[in-house]
This record gives sequence, structure tokens and C-alpha cells, in this order.
Amino acid sequence: MAPASNPIKYQHVAVIGAGASGLVAARELRREGHTAVVFDREKQVGGLWIYSPKAESDPLGLDPTRSIVHSSVYESLRTNLPRECMGFRDFPFVPRGDDVARDPRRYPSHKEVLAYLEDFAREFNIEEMIRFETEVVRVEPVNGKWRVRSKNSGGFSDDEIFDAVVVCSGHFTEPSVAQINGIESWPGKQIHSHNYRRPDPFKDEVVVVIGNFASGADISRDISKVAKEVHIASRAGGPDTYEKLAGHKNNLWMHSQIDIAREDGSIVFQNGKVVHADTIVHCTGYKYYFPFLETSGYMSVDDNRVEPLYKHIFPPALAPGLSFIGLPAMGLQFYMFEVQSKWVAAVLSGRVTLPSIDKMMEDMMLSYETQEALGIPKRYTHKLGKSQCEYLDWIADQCGFPHVEHWRDQEVTRGYKRLVAQPETFRDEWDDDDLMEEAYEDFTRQNLISFHSSRFLESGR
Ligand SMILES: Cc1cc2nc3c(=O)[nH]c(=O)nc-3n(C[C@H](O)[C@H](O)[C@H](O)COP(=O)(O)OP(=O)(O)OC[C@H]3O[C@@H](n4cnc5c(N)ncnc54)[C@H](O)[C@@H]3O)c2cc1C
Repeated sequence: MAPASNPIKYQHVAVIGAGASGLVAARELRREGHTAVVFDREKQVGGLWIYSPKAESDPLGLDPTRSIVHSSVYESLRTNLPRECMGFRDFPFVPRGDDVARDPRRYPSHKEVLAYLEDFAREFNIEEMIRFETEVVRVEPVNGKWRVRSKNSGGFSDDEIFDAVVVCSGHFTEPSVAQINGIESWPGKQIHSHNYRRPDPFKDEVVVVIGNFASGADISRDISKVAKEVHIASRAGGPDTYEKLAGHKNNLWMHSQIDIAREDGSIVFQNGKVVHADTIVHCTGYKYYFPFLETSGYMSVDDNRVEPLYKHIFPPALAPGLSFIGLPAMGLQFYMFEVQSKWVAAVLSGRVTLPSIDKMMEDMMLSYETQEALGIPKRYTHKLGKSQCEYLDWIADQCGFPHVEHWRDQEVTRGYKRLVAQPETFRDEWDDDDLMEEAYEDFTRQNLISFHSSRFLESGR
């Protein structure tokens, strides 16, 4: 897209959220010349990566009046991708050799990710833009601007007018729960992974874990350390799936999906196996949820599709005043936040223009039709999978950002393959030293790290 010849406008922008996406959005907005106020209901930066031993009052997360705990991080969580590919482009997520308290591993613990985000906020003075313990409770368009109502921890409520709002509120807090035949009369306990913290409460239990991607694979293994038996229900392998998995305690099985839950406490899998379970853990993902957004029905979330959105970011008739950072689910999360934020900042300043509303709607409808023709269910609209680099490069082209580096793209592809093939060991045994070396050479060449890369390559083990 050609750069616009309009005069540059500097806008006053509200950013909702000070997680990874809100931090980089604030940085990019300021870099472009805008002023930004970042609202976050937490006391600190980091969003999802702020671990709390506390869980919500409703373990399944269905009660709308429950107390909300934002983070879904469990105590044992380590990243599911190598750190090199997780970081922002010009602020690599490398081990900090100057601080022994930090975790130098290539797949570090959640604490290290939080520390990285704190480093980022400090390095670029983002904290001065943030209003902590301030929740945004309503966002609505008024006369071409945006009214933002916020409430601070003292209960004080305030209405302010902004030129634009960038939503960076995350989408891993509102649980999506599996529908199971007969569950109403099944007598056991249920919990969603959002509220899973530690394995101890499952000691000596028989546990069924639904879902076998990143969280399901991790949590089932965490629980198997103390439980009597753990049975994973997975839809990936088909209705006959039944396999005993290798593990520390020899107490882990993989099954097909659940067929029915019965009143006598049993769970019947589609493969015909029956177990008497104490607890079901739903590792079944999350729903997009924006309770503060009031657009008189223009925007909605239907079957987990946030619509209408051009390129998963701009609602055509409300653009560029309203935008969303971070909706697509993909491996390169922080990188995506960065490139999306650059585009939003450039569009808000008028340096880059969007197509007409009609053209944006047309593009969106075409992408829905393509998805349908490929047989991809509506609920996966924001799952980009293999097309993630194409998407990121397209946005990068809009705002003059370089394309995704070869090593970064490949680390995700090979990293996910390892995760599936060796869920027990993928964080400590890998076969892509070549990519890691390419990454560190890249950081060194761009003067993004101050030591020779060999030092980081050694400490990443
Ligand atoms: C269990 C789990 C493990 C993951 N592991 C990885 C990984 O290894 N690597 C990776 O790259 N990604 C991982 N992810 C993806 C991760 O979510 C993203 O990497 C990223 O941290 C999300 O950042 P965010 O800023 O979009 O959202 P969040 O980090 O959720 O931040 C949103 C912020 O918005 C604030 N907020 C929300 N609503 C309001 C409101 N109304 N008013 C004020 N503030 C509000 C919240 O308090 C929060 O601070 C994982 C996700 C999960 C659930």
C-alpha cells in the first residue's frame, strides 16, 4: 500500500491492557508521535505472565459473577517456544548473564517472560504511560471520538475522550468448556485450565484431561506426577485412539474424545474404554470477550469470530479509531503484536491509509468464503496456523517493516513439531542448533546483544 500524502496527525490514544501487546502498542504509538494512556486493572505490567497462586471462585469459569483472575499461568509453566523467536524484533529475549536470579534456559519459566516484559517496559519508559489498577468498563464512539470510562481501585470512575482506542486486553481469560453428553448428572469435579495452578489437589485421583495441545500436554503430565491415573481425551487421533504414554509413573493414557459421562461417575470414551474419574480438567481454550465495548451492535463475537474485522485488526466502519492487537492465534505472538502496532500507529498518524470501508468489508468477506471453502469452522477464524508468516509479512509491507526472519519462522515450525512428537522432552532436547545460531548471529550483526553470541548459545542449555 502506498504511503499517504495526508498531513501527519498526532492522536491521543487509549490503550487497554499492559500485557505484551499493550506495552509494544504504547511504544509504537509514541514512536509515531502520538500520546497514549495505557489502562490496566493489574498493579504491574505483564498481563498473562503475572503468575498468581489464586484461582477464580468458579473453577470452570462459567459464573458471570465470579471473581476474575486474569492470568492462566500455572506454577510449572515454561514457554512452549524457544526464547529467541518469542521476543520483539529489536529487543531480543536473550538470557541475562548479568543477573544470576534469571532463568537462562532456552525454554524458560513464566517468571523469566515476566522479567523480560518488565525489562522492555523499563528500557522504553513505558510505565510512565500506564494507569495501573484502573479497569476500563466502557468504550463507545461519540461524535467521531471515543469515550472511555474507567474505574480505579478506589472505586473512582472517570469518563475521558480519546481520538482512538487500541484494544490489547488479551484473550486467555474467558474459558471455553467442552460440551459432554450426560455431564449434568456426572457427580465429579470439573475445572478449566485457566484455574489450574498446581498438581497437589489431584493427589491419588483419577483425572480426565480434555485437550492435548500445549496446555493439555503440560497439565496432564504435571498432574500425573501425583495422581493415580490421568486419561487424556484428544480429538486429534480419531475415534479408536487408545495408547499408554511413557511417563515417570506409568499412569498416563491417550484416548479418543469422550462419548458420555454417566451418573455413576464413569466416563466412556469413543474408543469404548471406561474410567471412573474424580475430576475433569478442560484444556479446551478460550473465548474472545470484550465486555467493555459498546458499538450499538456493530461488532459482535459469534462462534468465537470477532466481526467485522479487516485483517483481524480494524472494524471497517469504526476504523482507524478502534483497533485490536493480538487477536490471531499463532506462534509468533510478540512479533505479531509489534508489527500490528506499527501498522495501527502509522494508520492513525495518516502516514499510511486504509482502503475504503467497502473494500475492507469485501476483503474480509473473501477471507471468510475462502475459509469456508477450505472446510475450516467459523470458530477458527483467528487461528492462522501455517499462514502466519504470510499475514505478518503482508502487514509488515504496509508499514515498511522487514519480513519475518528465516530462523524465526523455522523455529516455530520445528518447535511445534517437537512439541507434538516429544511432549515430555521438547523443552530440553532439540535438533535446531542451526536456527539458534542463525538467530544469535542476527542479533550480533544488528548490535542487539552486547556479548559474543557463543556465550548465549552456551548458557541456553
Ligand atoms: C497458558 C498459556 C501459555 C502461553 N505460552 C506462550 C509462550 O510460551 N509463548 C508465547 O509467545 N505465547 C504464549 N502464550 C500466548 C500469550 O497469551 C501471549 O504470548 C501474550 O502474553 C498475550 O499478551 P496480551 O498483551 O495480548 O494479553 P495479556 O497478557 O493477557 O494482557 C492483557 C492485559 O489487559 C488487561 N485488561 C484486560 N481487560 C482490561 C480492562 N477492561 N481494563 C483494564 N485492563 C484490562 C489485563 O489486566 C492484562 O494485563 C500463552 C498463553 C497461555 C494462555
